[in-house]
Amino acid sequence: MTKERLYLFDTTLRDGAQTNGVDFTLADKLAIASMLDELGVDYVEGGYPGANPTDTELFAAPRKLKTTFTAFGMTRRPGRSASNDPGLAMLLDAKADAICFVAKSWDYHVKVALETTLEENIASIRDSVRAAKAKGREVLLDCEHFFDGYKANPDYALACAKAAYEEGARWVVLCDTNGGALPHEVEEIVGAVVKAIPGDHVGIHAHNDTEQAVANSLAAVRAGARQIQGTLNGLGERCGNANLVSIIPTLKLKADYAGKFDIGVTDAGLHKLAHISHALDERLNRAPNRHAPYVGDSAFATKAGIHASAIMKDPATYEHVAPDTVGNKRKVLVSEQAGKSNVLAELERVGIKADKDDPRIGRLLDIVKEREAIGYAYEAADASFELLARRTLGAVPDYFDVTQFDVTVEQRYNPVGDRVTVAMAVVKVKVGDQSTISAAEGNGPVNALDQALRKDLGKYQKYIDGLSLSDFRVRILNSGTEAVTRVLIESEDENGERWTTIGVSPNIIDASFQALMDSIVFKLVKSKAPV
Ligand SMILES: [Zn+2]
Repeated sequence: MTKERLYLFDTTLRDGAQTNGVDFTLADKLAIASMLDELGVDYVEGGYPGANPTDTELFAAPRKLKTTFTAFGMTRRPGRSASNDPGLAMLLDAKADAICFVAKSWDYHVKVALETTLEENIASIRDSVRAAKAKGREVLLDCEHFFDGYKANPDYALACAKAAYEEGARWVVLCDTNGGALPHEVEEIVGAVVKAIPGDHVGIHAHNDTEQAVANSLAAVRAGARQIQGTLNGLGERCGNANLVSIIPTLKLKADYAGKFDIGVTDAGLHKLAHISHALDERLNRAPNRHAPYVGDSAFATKAGIHASAIMKDPATYEHVAPDTVGNKRKVLVSEQAGKSNVLAELERVGIKADKDDPRIGRLLDIVKEREAIGYAYEAADASFELLARRTLGAVPDYFDVTQFDVTVEQRYNPVGDRVTVAMAVVKVKVGDQSTISAAEGNGPVNALDQALRKDLGKYQKYIDGLSLSDFRVRILNSGTEAVTRVLIESEDENGERWTTIGVSPNIIDASFQALMDSIVFKLVKSKAPV
């Protein structure tokens, strides 16, 4: 039996950006888009080009993605022609592979919120789809409030969806915008829609207001829909969107779905899922949910006792899927052997070849365990992990030595009487037998330290000239009796390559210093700078 293709559409960067407390920078969006691409998601919705500077820049930025990069925006405004709507023009001009329009499909909203006629709303859908098709874009239509609209006026809701399909939209997406629909309702309504529009043109966009966004998405698939929209870690306003991190393994690992459908996520992609989920949380500067299905730290944790000994005999006895398939780990009586294989897997991920019988692997495992116990999170800092691994395996030269640094922060009043704070750093560096002293001012102590550190590295200076810091994240961790600070620094080089390094210390300057040092050394290793 040939399997049907099921498509995944990620809206982390658009709907997920509505999450309380989430504010993506351009660097965040680019990094998340490439994670999604690596995972194998078919569509990545970047945002609203033209609506804010970040999204406009995002769509203008060069991309090397396999995914269909999608712009989101409104259909033409009522009472205007498609050629005379500046918002629509910006959307059509954006460098996107596909355009996802949002339109109302609930008659009540058309009249009250849009203040237009039912006919004009449908004409706006038709004109907009046609205009985007004429521009050579793949077109999707998000039918806002579709389920509530269908309950109130099924003919009208369906007419909106059909209008888009008839004009050539690749997908008509049924949105449970208020998130109140229940799985049996979704299954029934999607079942009715696919009688009018073929299911392989129908998508589902569910919100989680009754904790059933995942269930609703699966119900829609059962009824015939063939595209699922959702977000990483279920980000989204209010209670979030359908969580792709839960949906993907369900589709890949549960026989009822895996037997019927193919998705773009390969087994290798699935294996990266836990890492991607945690990396996103680190980027948002929040602790990953330990109890998240499939990928949480506790998802495969069992307290010692009869369960633990049974798991040691045969893991399948107490696990619904094998933790390794989603890149997670079993958390019971982690044997030396299991720990080693985790480290070997991490080494493979960062591209270091190692022999499993090398005694240095055991030493690396001990160091990683010790460091993670005091707050390091290597999953979020590939470059620091790679350096630690290379150092333990004996392959990182001592390029230079910072023998002393000093950072001061001064508050004073400038000549016009404004209060200003000035930070200054002095760094003593030894390269070979040459010592240099550099000083720099910065807008903060870490910035000053960074400037001073990178000012004069002697013969290595040319390798770090193109290095810049693109992100700096600080988190206070409460482990044991003392609070410690974890700093993650994201760096970028002249080729646009990015990497993340980590530092942990009770002192924020010291934590930042460690992360800065790792970043510079990583760049030298990467550039194969001669010793
Ligand atoms: Zn939504």
